[in-house]
Amino acid sequence: MTATATAQRAYNFSAGPAVLPVSVLEEVRDELVCLPGARSSLLEMSHRDKTFVDILHDAENSLRSLLNISDDYAVLFLQGGAALQFSMIPANLLRDSGKSAAYIQTGTWGKKAIAEAKKEGPVEVVYDASASNFNHVPGPQDYSVADDAAYLYYCNNETIQGVQFPTEPECPSGVPLVCDASSDFLYRPVDINKYGLLYACAQKNAGPAGVTVVVIRRDLIDRGSVSLPGYLNYKNHADADSEWNTPPTFAIWVLGKVAKWLQNDIGGLAAMETLNRKKASLLYDAIDQSGGYYTGHAKPECRSLMNATFTLPNDDLQSAFLAQAAERDLVNLKGHRSVGGIRASIYNAMPIEGVQSLASFMTDFASKNA
Ligand SMILES: *Cc1c(COP(=O)(O)O)cnc(C)c1O
Repeated sequence: MTATATAQRAYNFSAGPAVLPVSVLEEVRDELVCLPGARSSLLEMSHRDKTFVDILHDAENSLRSLLNISDDYAVLFLQGGAALQFSMIPANLLRDSGKSAAYIQTGTWGKKAIAEAKKEGPVEVVYDASASNFNHVPGPQDYSVADDAAYLYYCNNETIQGVQFPTEPECPSGVPLVCDASSDFLYRPVDINKYGLLYACAQKNAGPAGVTVVVIRRDLIDRGSVSLPGYLNYKNHADADSEWNTPPTFAIWVLGKVAKWLQNDIGGLAAMETLNRKKASLLYDAIDQSGGYYTGHAKPECRSLMNATFTLPNDDLQSAFLAQAAERDLVNLKGHRSVGGIRASIYNAMPIEGVQSLASFMTDFASKNA
């Protein structure tokens, strides 16, 4: 990146669309006008052009290798964001199944998914953390799932509340586990074999807005009825290799570059997890060592490594905090209105220097404004 452009970049704690690796942005800039060897920009290229088909397969293979995804699963690149998956999942796996779907509700995104699923069929909310304003996740003893449920749905990281499952929720062996991983996709290694379906919109932790990755076990692909609108049927996308209609070519291109960055620059998802733990503990230590000046929203055992949420003693101090943080190039820290306070999103691409800078500002601010 040119020196001036780099110098203009603040540390961006936005919840999404969010920070991307600088090296990826530089590559995109360099290749945007003419893709090396292609005589045109990727933006001008048919999605059926071999160059793009190779880019799509390359992105898929990078995801397969990062997450160790076997051939028992299809990897789909779809549009409509995570929100369309709220409907597509029950349209394919619940509608006309004669079954009920189980949902765990630990935050705003799970709640929205439940509202959409109810339009498709019977839904049982097996756990609801709303009474405590979504500050925790359930343990295995806190809920039960019928053996014949259509699937068990949960959101691994509730982006707004900053509440994350430390490990997958327990699920009866015959029931497909369905996961909204939108805000913590690729943040650490996961065992995909535990899932029936795992999906993520890209614009939190994996790329730009416009593409949603769906990893789906092949036996679930055929469950959608032929009467479904074509776009909503997973089978159409799987059969056509994500080219049933024009896929979001630019977003897939950039997502593929982010996956390569994870593999080559970071060293894979285990290394990414180590770094993410280090970054998150800088912020949570600043909260815990503030003598109660900062109050974390999530219970400590399920604090998110991606979105740290906390409040200050009052609204005036909160406004001062945001203003002074911005003066130090720490931006987009305002929390969601439903939780209030501060939300620092520290996704994979947030450099540790940015988190260090925020943590030391927090300590500094608390000592000056106690
Ligand atoms: C952002 C987000 C969504 C919604 O994503 P869209 O692409 O805007 O539909 C869903 N779930 C989670 C966990 C999110 O963070």
